[in-house]
Amino acid sequence: MSQDLPKLDPPKKPVPTKRRLPPPPPPADASGTGGRADGTIPAVSVAAGGRHRFARAVVRSTAGFLVSLVVHLALLLTMALLVVLTPTESPLAVIVTTDSGKDDLLRQADTVQLTMPDVRDVMGSELRRPLLADVSAAPPTLDAADRTIRPYAARRSDVFDSTDSMRVPNRAPRGGGFEGRRPDRRGALVADGGGNAASESAVALALAWLAAHQRRDGSWRFDFDGEPCNDQCGNPGTVGATNAATGLALLPFLGAGHTHMEGEYRDVVHRGLYYLKDAMVMTPDGGDLHQQTMYAQGIATIALCEAVAMSDDETFRVAAQRAVDFIANAQHSKGGWRYLPRHPGDTTVFGWQMMALKSAHMAGLDVPSPTLSLAERFLDSVQSGDGAYYGYMTPDESPGPTAIGLLIRMYTGWRRDVTPLSKGVAYLAKKGPSESDMYYNYYATQVLHHYGGEAWPKWNEQLRDYLIRTQAAAGHERGSWFFVDKHGSRGGRLYTTAMCAMILEVYYRHMPLYGRSAVEENM
Ligand SMILES: [Zn+2]
Repeated sequence: MSQDLPKLDPPKKPVPTKRRLPPPPPPADASGTGGRADGTIPAVSVAAGGRHRFARAVVRSTAGFLVSLVVHLALLLTMALLVVLTPTESPLAVIVTTDSGKDDLLRQADTVQLTMPDVRDVMGSELRRPLLADVSAAPPTLDAADRTIRPYAARRSDVFDSTDSMRVPNRAPRGGGFEGRRPDRRGALVADGGGNAASESAVALALAWLAAHQRRDGSWRFDFDGEPCNDQCGNPGTVGATNAATGLALLPFLGAGHTHMEGEYRDVVHRGLYYLKDAMVMTPDGGDLHQQTMYAQGIATIALCEAVAMSDDETFRVAAQRAVDFIANAQHSKGGWRYLPRHPGDTTVFGWQMMALKSAHMAGLDVPSPTLSLAERFLDSVQSGDGAYYGYMTPDESPGPTAIGLLIRMYTGWRRDVTPLSKGVAYLAKKGPSESDMYYNYYATQVLHHYGGEAWPKWNEQLRDYLIRTQAAAGHERGSWFFVDKHGSRGGRLYTTAMCAMILEVYYRHMPLYGRSAVEENM
């Protein structure tokens, strides 16, 4: 199969053994070392190649006794790290909670296995995971680049205490998984959740439209520039970046059970995923897909993680992990994400990153526990009404941020009977679905579907039938949607269609977060 794939970059030269030494710290001013064009975030700007050149130059130009000095210093560092990191017992079970303890009722205590990091991890010389290259077609470029990435624990030690700065292995999700996308489960979930033949037909038409708008290189564009649409569809978006468009276009396929291994669109999905994998820029902070907006990073990472989670194939596992690493490293010190790495967060960018991290959990990828704890603190900082409502960057009560905030609260462990959750759900239900804001509808529909209860059937019928009614029925636009709205004008018909398709996939795209028994108990 791999012979059909886009050509991969040739393998890099074998990694010299001297790279087992810890890499030199990045210069405070990364200019001239091959960093990204965005020079405002120096900590993520140092390209690996710059460090390699630096290392080679040092080795060439340094006298023997200096090399010896470096080696001895490294040995001393190793000894020091061994002393610092020698665990009393390993692994040890811990309860992950925030330090405040103020809202014990608001989260389920999650027992996870915390494994002490291997000293080799801290030295950055070995992969933290099994060598996937041995069992998959993962390109050697990624494996080689992996060895140059500074270990996560070392990066975050200045932000978190020593316990928090360790990687925590994946824990099983309580719900929200992808099992419902399987053909043998989907029909029952459609019937159970309130979908119907017309909604499923609308999804099928949307997927056909999306497939017809994939570009030759496997990407999609919001602005429909050039092939294959050639302006036959109206309402293109204004954004030219491809990673967000490609990630967003892939999600409805994955949401309906089409992976790169299965389903009638496996070739479409395969080419899209490979586009993202090839577009990824390896940095010391992980795999960069953000193209000047972390929306792209979050959305593309969800696609990669879902593909890993939904298939037994390992082709995209390393790439997905690198993308997750980048998200973790791009988090602002107060827990949020915004357009650029480490900028103070806003709720909308935050939502995509958090869904990417949840998808990563489901794929069995490593997600740093401190990232999630810190993310909850970001939500605390924009909530009002004790967490019933959310704002964009400050405490507020706005529909879109509230829908995002509540959905992430559900994923991070709020029980269904928590008062702010029921108040927030009631607020969304009273507002009802929007006729133009599919961003709000996308999140609010998930919140109401997970929550269930009396509000769901009304919300569902209203929005489901509205979308079925408004889907384009003829011409090149057949199967797509467009509504005039602030997001719609930027993302255009491609964005709108992907969001609408995922809204109509809500019945099976994520398994329920609250079991039926829990729903009945509280009704
Ligand atoms: Zn078109």
